[in-house]
Amino acid sequence: MNCRKCGDLGYIVEPGVETATAVVCSCRTPCPRCGDSGLWIDDSVLPPVSRSCDCRHLRRHVARFNAGELPARFHRSTIENFEETGGTQAEVRMHLVRYRRAFSPGVRGLLLWGPPGTGKTHLICGLLRHFALEKGLSVRFVDFFHLLDLLKATWDGNKGGDDILESLVQVDVLAIDELGKRPMKPWELAILDQLISRRYNAGRSLLATTNLNASDGADVAGERRLADEVQERIQSRLIEMCDFLQVTGPDYRRGKVGAAPAASHPTRVGRRTRSENADTP
Ligand SMILES: [Zn+2]
Ligand SMILES: [Zn+2]
Repeated sequence: MNCRKCGDLGYIVEPGVETATAVVCSCRTPCPRCGDSGLWIDDSVLPPVSRSCDCRHLRRHVARFNAGELPARFHRSTIENFEETGGTQAEVRMHLVRYRRAFSPGVRGLLLWGPPGTGKTHLICGLLRHFALEKGLSVRFVDFFHLLDLLKATWDGNKGGDDILESLVQVDVLAIDELGKRPMKPWELAILDQLISRRYNAGRSLLATTNLNASDGADVAGERRLADEVQERIQSRLIEMCDFLQVTGPDYRRGKVGAAPAASHPTRVGRRTRSENADTP
């Protein structure tokens, strides 16, 4: 490793004021080859030719990460540094490693569901970070409350509202954190449905987390269910678009009994069918 600051990644991610901020590392700027102009003269051939410099990719990836608005407190989060504490976390993490490797824009998304404090947001941020900084994809993280605020501008017909919706539709990977965190009004459901349907029709990947129960097994007294909060239409879109992975932590096995699928089937992958669900308690 030549640079101890960035580990030769070429970028550093800092907490920023509200959102995580990536910067090009001092070992790469000014670029020794092009002086940050993006073009260099290749004089190994005659006549010499002007070539595009690789550092353009680094700058674009950094810009894409910064446009993604990941929360400042998750600025360090990667799949690698996720600390498993129990439950299904190890299996989910391994699943995400494979998912990340095979990912290309438009593939099926993921919905991570389970109790608060099990690391779902960390894992989603780790994926977005990789997609932006390593793959150069456009990403966007949005907390559910903030999403509803953004969508309100569209619903109210405010200037720029359509642009906001359009940007959320067009981004390569959209991550919605804490989906269904509070009950929604009918107009909120309508506009959320519009967003999700448009991404579905455009074949764009969606990531989401929710603290609600997203299984379609038996009800558990006192537990809020995603299907009730987002209604059937959105729920069925989510099932079409995403693999549902249950994330549980160490409290899970000590605490609630019979709340969710058996431990031997902690993650559900692929489209769920009635028959697959038959063996869940
Ligand atoms: Zn460096
Ligand atoms: Zn350069």
